[in-house]
Amino acid sequence: MCCTLHSMTARTHDTAALVALLAWSIVFPPATMTVATAMTALLANQLGGIAPDIDQPTAPFWRNLPIGRYFGRVFGALVGGHRFFCHSLLGLAVFGVIGRALLEFLQPIMPHIDSEVVWTAFMIGMISHLVMDTVTREGVPWLLPLPLKFGLPPVRKLRIVTGSWVENIVILPLLLAGAVWLCAEHYTTLSALIQNRLVR
Ligand SMILES: [Zn+2]
Repeated sequence: MCCTLHSMTARTHDTAALVALLAWSIVFPPATMTVATAMTALLANQLGGIAPDIDQPTAPFWRNLPIGRYFGRVFGALVGGHRFFCHSLLGLAVFGVIGRALLEFLQPIMPHIDSEVVWTAFMIGMISHLVMDTVTREGVPWLLPLPLKFGLPPVRKLRIVTGSWVENIVILPLLLAGAVWLCAEHYTTLSALIQNRLVR
């Protein structure tokens, strides 16, 4: 049996993270923006969008490392397995603290990058991941250490089966359409944001 069955594809999560970032940028546009910040924030957002699935040895992050699968397996066991610690508010907070510390450490070598914006983009990616996993059959243990998995809608049968045609033919195209719609509908705001000439 394919081992990726228990998680949505990275493509779905990446697209969801982008939609969430676009929506956030439209509603709460940062005060200032540089091209370097925008690019780094986009990258951080995409990383955040797949970060929780680092708890399974088949995650792209581990697959791309030499003998990564073994490290992945050990790491997965340490954090309690797939859809456990990394898929909870507690895990979100820990990733948030580590991400912030890493950005503060890197700030001296990236003076043109607003690390606050980059960190926010990363967290938005991570939250979008947990929200997307919540609409799947397996649900998400949001309130760990409370060992309960939450899902929407509450009736399990109505939720999406990960990796199914619903995900690939309905959810992913809807997310892509959402990204295109947000860009088209809020073109002026988004282009002004990138060019750092947002009028308030
Ligand atoms: Zn996941």
